[in-house]
Amino acid sequence: MPRIAAVLIPMPLPEPFDYAEPEGMGLEVGDQVAVPLGPRVMRGVVVSVRDGAGHNRPLKPVIEKLADPPLPASTLAFVQWAARYAVDAPAWPLAMALRGLRAPKPKPEKQLVLTGTQPARMTPARQRVLDAAQDHLAPPALAAAAGVSAGVIKGLVEEGVLELRLVETPAAFDPPDLGLPGATLNPSQRAAADALTGMIAEGGFQAALLDGVTGSGKTEVYLEAVAAVLAADPDAQVLVLLPEIALTQAVLARFEQRFGVAPAEWHSAVPPPRRRRTWEAVQANRCRIVVGARSALFLPFAHLKLIVVDEEHDASFKQEEGFIYQARDLAVARAHLEKAAIILASATPSLESLWNAQQGRYRWLKLNQRHGVAQMPDVSLIDLRETPPETGRWLSAPLVHAMIETLERGEQVLLFLNRRGYAPLVLCRACGERMTAPDTDSWLVEHRYTGRLVCHLTGFSMPKPDRCPHCGAQDSLVAVGPGVERVEEEARSLFPDARIAVFSSDTVESAEAARELVGAMEDGRIDILVATQAAAKGHNFPNLTLVGVVDADLGLRGGDLRAGERTFQLLAQASGRAGRKERPGRAMLQTYAPDHPVMQALAAQDRDAFIEAEMTARELSGLPPFGRLAAVIASGTDPVVLEDYVRALAAAVPNAEGVEVFGPADAPLALVRGRRRKRLLVRADRSVDLQAFLSAWRARVKVPSSVRAVFDVDPYSF
Ligand code: ADP
Repeated sequence: MPRIAAVLIPMPLPEPFDYAEPEGMGLEVGDQVAVPLGPRVMRGVVVSVRDGAGHNRPLKPVIEKLADPPLPASTLAFVQWAARYAVDAPAWPLAMALRGLRAPKPKPEKQLVLTGTQPARMTPARQRVLDAAQDHLAPPALAAAAGVSAGVIKGLVEEGVLELRLVETPAAFDPPDLGLPGATLNPSQRAAADALTGMIAEGGFQAALLDGVTGSGKTEVYLEAVAAVLAADPDAQVLVLLPEIALTQAVLARFEQRFGVAPAEWHSAVPPPRRRRTWEAVQANRCRIVVGARSALFLPFAHLKLIVVDEEHDASFKQEEGFIYQARDLAVARAHLEKAAIILASATPSLESLWNAQQGRYRWLKLNQRHGVAQMPDVSLIDLRETPPETGRWLSAPLVHAMIETLERGEQVLLFLNRRGYAPLVLCRACGERMTAPDTDSWLVEHRYTGRLVCHLTGFSMPKPDRCPHCGAQDSLVAVGPGVERVEEEARSLFPDARIAVFSSDTVESAEAARELVGAMEDGRIDILVATQAAAKGHNFPNLTLVGVVDADLGLRGGDLRAGERTFQLLAQASGRAGRKERPGRAMLQTYAPDHPVMQALAAQDRDAFIEAEMTARELSGLPPFGRLAAVIASGTDPVVLEDYVRALAAAVPNAEGVEVFGPADAPLALVRGRRRKRLLVRADRSVDLQAFLSAWRARVKVPSSVRAVFDVDPYSF
């Protein structure tokens, strides 16, 4: 009786499909196969193989077992867990797990290998070739490595000493050098590192929150934990997740310093062939440390023993498009499935993680002081109601004064404004028209470097027109409000001799550019850095002593659930860039709301009071971490069909204790690329199985073909 293989295919299908296993194929869980799906042939992964006895429906057979390496069972389990968590088809996380295989298999390369035959005659040049040939190189590379001409190599091939062979090279990631010494830890760092290594030595799933102020040495501490894991088990692998590519470069350099070799890198800017090499090396356990962005969580680790989520509070761990997930939460789940340890590190942990630490679910390790003589910066508020900047300007007199003092001492200034471009809004003075992207209700942002108006949501862009497209008035379009480019312009007019640079995702598009800018800042080739959040975290600039926050109130507008928490985190991180080593730093926050609890907590550097107030407010309203949230975003091109669908959904809410549904209402962005968007919100008690509720609900109403309905579990904004 042939066996039946259940195969998961990266297509939006709710379940794996059954196929017959051809005689002798010997399929196992995790194997990659080619299967027929309608008229197409698809790649899929075997999730189970069972006895076909008693099965009477004829099944299509598996076409072939692919040569690509199998997915480890634990990766497959994680993919399925993630799908259930996100109430989505397993196809999406599966596609992410297979993403590394998109590049074609590298062509086998012809390399020169030693045959064992001794050369008839030995010369110093020939000796160098024989030495270098141990590394199996292609002919030009061997000639270069040995410093000889092609003729020397040709001669050795003719004598039969060397042979040209086709070799499929498995990617080699040099093993970390575990003999190198780490930093000499100070007593509180030592205590935290010992607690981590002790915890990890217990084995199995373990979680810790490494909660230390900016500059306290969290990275040094977790590097010790990484070293301990690698030393204890020669097969162990470690994954370090980071929020930004710009940050990745700095952390990669520290890993390289600590372990003598660069770890594997995984993020969107890594070219596909290198991704494939990395994917295969991770799967075959030929790569022990991966440092990457959230998508690295889906790599096929053979023997994952530790995950570190650095800057765990960071919003960029939440993926909001395609497969929607919170990488920090999924990282905890993956550690659980792998029976591995996880360290969540931050100077401003998320309320969710703080709550888990308070409940004793995570070990809570605190570092309350900066390393060495460095002190926490002095934080002060500038009340813009009292000292407003001049019209069309954004820097107040007290901030400018502090900048003068700082630059005169030969120290550096960071001006922080979390807004890309020149101005967030372009308005027609004649008719009042606000420029928006076509069929989208988000404003076009003026970028003066490129002379274009850009939609940050859809990527649409156009040259800035001379006339208002609405009323036709000439030269009537004006820029309203500041972005980093405009603050840079103001800084240049105030300090014409200062060296000024802008750090935002527009100026820093590649890892190279980030490295260059961070390097220039580190060795003092920049006096004033105007930056968005891309530079607000993680970096240590020893000569940076003044951080000016241009608009501290920016994140508080709009009033969503996490506005206070997020603003506190962002501004504490930005302020935390000031003052390293012996130079004291200060941070000045320009605000129109100096009495707001977030501003008060920042000025008093009283995080605990802020957290306590925020926790109490969340508890009273049953919001996370005390309750659970989900959002349903439905979008469609036909407003009537869309409205009918969301109303039907609202009418079909399953009866469930402890669940409230709000809406439908317009989504925060009600029109994107011509699609109208509606939103329903769900709040549930912690005891509710939210996923089961959502799946049951979703199944009750058929989604019309013109509508897309996306379920977002634990939405970031609410
Ligand atoms: P965090 O991640 O908590 O912000 P880092 O690990 O980046 O802190 O440390 C801040 C700075 O202090 C870095 O430049 C780091 O190299 C230095 N540092 C921290 N601890 C030590 C130590 N024990 N010995 C030497 N330098 C240290």
